Amino acid sequence: MPRRPSRNLMRALILFLSLLAPLLTSCGEEEDSRVWLKGDLHLHSDHSHDARDNPLSALVPLAESLGMDYFVITDHDNHVNGKLTTWDDPHYRSDAMVLLYGVEWTTGRGHANFFGAERFEHERLYALRESSGEQVAEEAARQSLHFSINHPIGKDLWEYGFDHHFDSIEIWNALFLAPNRNRDAIALWESLVMEQGRRIPIRGGSDCHHQEGGEAEIFNIGNPTTWVYARDRSGEAVLNALGRGNASISYAPTAERLELWADADGDGKYELLMGDTIESVPESLAFDLRVEGTHPGDSYRVLIIKDGETLLEETVRAVQPRLTLTFRDSPNGRTFYRAELRAEPPLRHLQTTLPEAYGDMIALTNPIYVGYP
Ligand SMILES: [Zn+2]
Ligand SMILES: [Zn+2]
Repeated sequence: MPRRPSRNLMRALILFLSLLAPLLTSCGEEEDSRVWLKGDLHLHSDHSHDARDNPLSALVPLAESLGMDYFVITDHDNHVNGKLTTWDDPHYRSDAMVLLYGVEWTTGRGHANFFGAERFEHERLYALRESSGEQVAEEAARQSLHFSINHPIGKDLWEYGFDHHFDSIEIWNALFLAPNRNRDAIALWESLVMEQGRRIPIRGGSDCHHQEGGEAEIFNIGNPTTWVYARDRSGEAVLNALGRGNASISYAPTAERLELWADADGDGKYELLMGDTIESVPESLAFDLRVEGTHPGDSYRVLIIKDGETLLEETVRAVQPRLTLTFRDSPNGRTFYRAELRAEPPLRHLQTTLPEAYGDMIALTNPIYVGYP
């Protein structure tokens, strides 16, 4: 039997370490004080005509009970002729969550969400429904808004083209597998990143419309959840992290969360986070994939995807609530790396009568970009 250290010794050790901690951080690199914040970026309330049974008065407490850090309602603007009523609803307030201002720009040629940290002049965007994507992007930039294309493939596909500026794209809308075409949306996004040579942040959104009936039995707020690594708990910081792509997506607010980091200069510190880029291409990079919130005993499939192709696929059994995988690779010039976490259905944390519709997708990350501006 190994001898147990005495309680006093342990106490002394803990004290020593806690005294040392500030010294260690002050000697080392600048401390990373960012925080992981979770939320849902696509939700409809009773201010949308097709979500009458989704009252804001119920949605806000539900999101709070799920532990959401930020929250936004993106009601259909065409249901109110562009004159939004959601933000003036007295139930649109929370002491627990950071509230964003949002809307779903709902046109016959596609849907997009606009997000602001403050109220904005949505009527100016509503007036641009028949305009070009460039004009819409210009107006969004003028108002410092985050312009995010919704469900680009499917019944309301995006027909404004993808050459104009946009800040992110929704590649995971509601249920991962069916009836949605999220896999096609991912393929489209990857091809845009490769063909256009530009970084395009990705996000999720539940597009939840109901608290009653069939839809409510299958999914709700937070299916999926988008995690952002924000410098503080403010709307501005949430949108900044989202716009940088410092974000990953999980199928539920209590699901496993992914972080992909890389060390490009070989100093042993993983300074690049998913969403970040290194413009000069190093000979090789070390990667660190962290999975938070795993269930010891569960098996996971981890996929590393390089330029749209699987570079690495491994089955890993969790022994701790946190799993770390490291690997090294040589980029071929302009390259982007991302990760997926999968497991066999039924996934945990679901109150659903249709687990099959979630497929095996637990979580996925934004990429780390190499050789991208
Ligand atoms: Zn839509
Ligand atoms: Zn919607």
